[in-house]
Amino acid sequence: MAESVELPSKLAILPFRNKVLLPGAIIFIRCTSSSSVKLVEQELWQKEEKGLIGILPVRDSSENVMVGSAMAQGGGTEPTERSPIILYASSDSHKLDEKNQEEFIHWHARGVAARALHMSRGVEKPSGRVTYMVFLEGLCRFSVQELNTRGTYYTAKIIPLQTTKAEIKLVEQDADFRALSLHFKSIAMELISVIEQKQKTFGRTKVLETVPLHKLADIFVASLEISFDEQLPMIDSVDLKVRLSKATELVERHLQSIRIAEKITQRVDGQLSKSQKEFLLQQQMKAINEELGDNDNDDEDDLATLENKMQNAGLPSNISKHAHRELRRLKKMQPQQPGYNSSRVYLELIADLPWKKASQELELDLKATKEMLDKDHYGLVMVKQRIIEYLAVRKLKPDARGPVLCFVGPPGVGKTSLASSIAAALGKKFLRISLGGVNDETDIRGHRRTYIGSMPGRLIDGLKRVAVSNPVVLLDEIDKTGSDVRGDPASALLEVLDPEQNKTFHDHYLNVPFDLSNVVFLAAANKAQPIPSPLLDRMEVIELPGYTAGEKLRIAIRHLIPRVLSQHGLSPDFLQIPEAVVKLVIERYTREAGVRNLERKLATLARAAAVKVAEQEQVVTLNHDIQQLPSPLIENTFSGGAEVGMEVLPMGIGNHGISSTFNMSSPLVADEEMLEKVLGPPIYVEEEASERVATPGVSVGLVWTPLGGEVQFVEAAAMVGKGELRLTGQLGDIIKESAQIALSWVRARAADLKLASTKEINLLHGRDIHIHFPRGATPKDGPSAGITLVTALVSLFSQRRVRADTAMTGEMTLRGLVLPVGGIKDKVWVCLTSLVFSHLP
Ligand code: ADP
Repeated sequence: MAESVELPSKLAILPFRNKVLLPGAIIFIRCTSSSSVKLVEQELWQKEEKGLIGILPVRDSSENVMVGSAMAQGGGTEPTERSPIILYASSDSHKLDEKNQEEFIHWHARGVAARALHMSRGVEKPSGRVTYMVFLEGLCRFSVQELNTRGTYYTAKIIPLQTTKAEIKLVEQDADFRALSLHFKSIAMELISVIEQKQKTFGRTKVLETVPLHKLADIFVASLEISFDEQLPMIDSVDLKVRLSKATELVERHLQSIRIAEKITQRVDGQLSKSQKEFLLQQQMKAINEELGDNDNDDEDDLATLENKMQNAGLPSNISKHAHRELRRLKKMQPQQPGYNSSRVYLELIADLPWKKASQELELDLKATKEMLDKDHYGLVMVKQRIIEYLAVRKLKPDARGPVLCFVGPPGVGKTSLASSIAAALGKKFLRISLGGVNDETDIRGHRRTYIGSMPGRLIDGLKRVAVSNPVVLLDEIDKTGSDVRGDPASALLEVLDPEQNKTFHDHYLNVPFDLSNVVFLAAANKAQPIPSPLLDRMEVIELPGYTAGEKLRIAIRHLIPRVLSQHGLSPDFLQIPEAVVKLVIERYTREAGVRNLERKLATLARAAAVKVAEQEQVVTLNHDIQQLPSPLIENTFSGGAEVGMEVLPMGIGNHGISSTFNMSSPLVADEEMLEKVLGPPIYVEEEASERVATPGVSVGLVWTPLGGEVQFVEAAAMVGKGELRLTGQLGDIIKESAQIALSWVRARAADLKLASTKEINLLHGRDIHIHFPRGATPKDGPSAGITLVTALVSLFSQRRVRADTAMTGEMTLRGLVLPVGGIKDKVWVCLTSLVFSHLP
């Protein structure tokens, strides 16, 4: 910033329309009019740094302003302070801008000399007009003595209005001035800090110490966004004290207006109550949703439907209160708010649960029920009898608290279908809840709603699905529940099954009691033994031990084949499966105690037959229909249009023709060849036991598996070694121990068994024993292989073959005691298979 400048007595004048340039201020201008371009070119561009011009404010002639007393017309007396010069432009009109012609220009009598800090010259295309961009810095005030024109622009004779250093020193000693300057500095400081806070930029207060006060006043006023009329008097304030007080007044006023604006904002903010803010936010959210294409109305409709549903759900009064409180909360929420969805899902559940809704119970007709059970299930005489007793007691005393029936047996023996028959007999809906793999109490009781992704337990969820409060519920695989750190599902089940407690069953998710006392509970398990004893106490176990091959054959012929055929849209007219073939399926393609796999295999045969039938249908249509038509007609038909296509069939043999052709074809009869084609090569081809035991060291055992009984061969071999025992075939610890016991027992009895001549002879001397259980991929365990192991070892050491027609099972103690065995019926079903088949007609 220039300290003091030597001003010439004459300056080219650039008029500033309604704008003021103050000393110390920097302004950017773009000159496009011919007069200003000429001025800049001649006075600044060509003179470079030495160039100075005068900036003189002019007021728009259209504005209605007071014209001062003194008028300078082309020269004359010096205008007094604040008085504009009015130039009657017509005097030199031929050279001036057209715009100024015939207009009075209200020149201000004082202006500010300026120099160019930076300039650039441009040429507009395609007109070729020259323009200038100039950064001007205001230097010092001057007053106009005489205004003239030079070519197309004005010039003026001027008197600089600079304050000398002496004058500055003098005024600085003035007490008033000092007080004024202190005041100015403080408000200037305040203004700076307000601006800095707004703009979050700091470090501008330095300017207050580095720039002299008289210049600061101009700079501050120049930086304020104030009107032309407010800034104009600053040019006229030549006296330092006047200038400072003027600047103080302007800065203070500006600061005041900033403070008022802030106060208003704060007051408005404060006046917006919480709900108003919420409203505003909701409106914004709505607008955003609309922009995104989400439709809020859907949610409103949904909530109305939900409320309606809740009202019709027959909620008990305390639960209704609870639910409506939750609904009120939900209505206040925005769909995007966390918790909205979970709250809604919760209320949906409450509205869907069958609080009062129940299916009407049928008057129990025991005779009809018995007939139905017989019709649906082959055999199971004792089981059916027990079911009838159970139902009879219910008929006489509907609220009888008898034990829960628990069907125990291998898969596919009809546990589920018996339970569903009971439901049908009672005229109730049937619900099966699988408890397999349930380790966690929350599976039964649900998760508390505080957890993310929480949901109700299986019972409440199931009841929601059946939508009645009195269904028959089968707790399937109740023996497969475990317990771990997450709680014991069995204790939750106890509450479910206890008539005293289940009136107010508490699900953590639902969090209000639900009455389960109208539900008829049944249970099913593969084994009774893993069921926790408190649970078992509440139940009456009904065993379904598995079917013999003969039973399976009867079940297949009477129940499974008719059902499978109808499920596939077939009848015996299309597919026939002779008994002998069913036998083959049972023997070669299934190995199970129940009939589930058998049903599946029969279904596979039915599917294959269905495909054949469908293919036959197509062949009929094409062969007879189209090919018999005379060829020109075909051409006409296909070129003719849409409805012609429909004519193709009737013109041939028609629908009647198809069905009769179809009926005429003989039914498909399943045979061994078809079995191999459809079901693949036989899965279970048992070598004859006699072949397997042809070498010494092999014995035949019977084992129980969850799928029923199986024949298990045990193979033993001896080889040169150090007397070690090796065991293979995926054996568990118990079976390994049985092998050790068996070997020890045989060694101890070596002489008695005539395996060695004297007691002193070590049977294992110089040899190792290897025992293998074939089907090495299936894990095996349990103590009942004991006797089979002993037999295999004795056979090995004595080199005598075992009988092929005898299988054995039983745990043996070290002293040679064979303990009682269980699951005999399951275990022997394999043997029965061959037996029964050999006696079947
Ligand atoms: P589980 O529940 O014991 O595993 P399911 O009840 O599901 O077995 O029975 C499997 C299939 O076998 C069902 O289609 C069922 O109707 C049929 N089934 C089982 N036992 C018999 C039976 N004694 N008579 C007729 N069909 C039976």
